[in-house]
Amino acid sequence: MIKQISHLGMAVNNLEEAREFYRSVFGLESSEPIIGGDGDIKVSMVEVGGVLIELLQPIGSEGVMAKFLEKRGEGFHHICYEVDDIDTEIASLKASGVEVIGEPNLGAEGMSVFLHPRGTHGVLVELVEKKE
Ligand code: ZN
Repeated sequence: MIKQISHLGMAVNNLEEAREFYRSVFGLESSEPIIGGDGDIKVSMVEVGGVLIELLQPIGSEGVMAKFLEKRGEGFHHICYEVDDIDTEIASLKASGVEVIGEPNLGAEGMSVFLHPRGTHGVLVELVEKKE
């Protein structure tokens, strides 16, 4: 079962510039950047009203985020929903014909997996089961 929106992922060219923009223009502080993905992205979180904005800057030019930016430019990248049980959710989505990308991975928030935009009306969807 989907419980709530966990975060919205935004692709940015320069994380420090984006963090400074969120701080000075929107008045929103962001977390210290961490390295995520397979070591190919730098991530910082901005909290607003219980929802997180995930700022994503590629490291290097080979990863999926670098390819996304090259093709689509900066902007909205994915929506992440928090689920209570990721394995149950994946099984039910697969049964509905939704394309799940790979296997769940342990990230900063918990186990997460992506759904291909082909099966979700054009939106890259991430599911996360938060760690206790
Ligand atoms: Zn995410």
